[in-house]
Amino acid sequence: MRTRFAPSPTGYLHLGHAYSALTVGQIAAEFCGSALLRIEDTDSTRCRPEYDAAIFEDLRWLGLDWPEPVWRQSDHSSDYDATLTTLAARGLLYPCSCSRRDVAEAGATPGWDGLVYPGTCRSRPMKDARPGDALRLNLARALEATGPLPAFTETGPQHAGTHQPDPEALLAKIGDPVLRRKGTGDPAYHLACPQDDAAQGITHVVRGADLWHATFLHVVLQTLMGWPVPTYHHHDLIRDESGTRLAKIAHSRAIRAFRDDGMSPADIRRMVGF
Ligand code: GLU
Repeated sequence: MRTRFAPSPTGYLHLGHAYSALTVGQIAAEFCGSALLRIEDTDSTRCRPEYDAAIFEDLRWLGLDWPEPVWRQSDHSSDYDATLTTLAARGLLYPCSCSRRDVAEAGATPGWDGLVYPGTCRSRPMKDARPGDALRLNLARALEATGPLPAFTETGPQHAGTHQPDPEALLAKIGDPVLRRKGTGDPAYHLACPQDDAAQGITHVVRGADLWHATFLHVVLQTLMGWPVPTYHHHDLIRDESGTRLAKIAHSRAIRAFRDDGMSPADIRRMVGF
């Protein structure tokens, strides 16, 4: 059994991360498995070295440990490029130059993770890709290529059971996802995450419930690429007093801010219910 904690160095770790990292460690211990640390540093506009260094410092301070070497996504760009080349050769990608505003103005409908791309650029061939274009997966074609999708097992509190992704729901609620980002050409999370789960031999993906719906798309990528489908466990998110999600973007309080106030690792564990 092998699982992972996969933070992105786009801010300081907060209590939600502490809860997630401790849950990953606890589930690994239950299975006598191992818990890897993976740095998801593909977003070159938001990742910063000081956040990266702080991940290691904060997790060690909390008393967590992990096998070396730590997998860093920025070391694996050529692997993600190879997958994009494979998908493009199978006719499953297209270049897209739409901005968020273009998408909104084209009458996109709300889906599981923001607006569903309305397909404006879908008929553009790859040979017309311009520098800085995003690359999107043509989901309808991808689903034709996979045929029926495999069921996956979820062991988390909200959706425990077996789930078979429904192609119609995927098309209506996810649409054509970006696999290479506009402008920077960085690989997108939905590409790098399932690719690395396969490359690292992850048998159990343990992560926050905010990524529940992403799993359905990850199963599509896994099936397309012949990667194994791991078992999933989406844990509840820690919520702050006002009931909003504790997120870095919401300027939630960093673990290190509590530490600077004199709190101990044991205090943090208690605060998140461990
Ligand atoms: N890097 C993602 C995040 O920080 C986690 C992805 C995952 O565990 O699949 O939210």
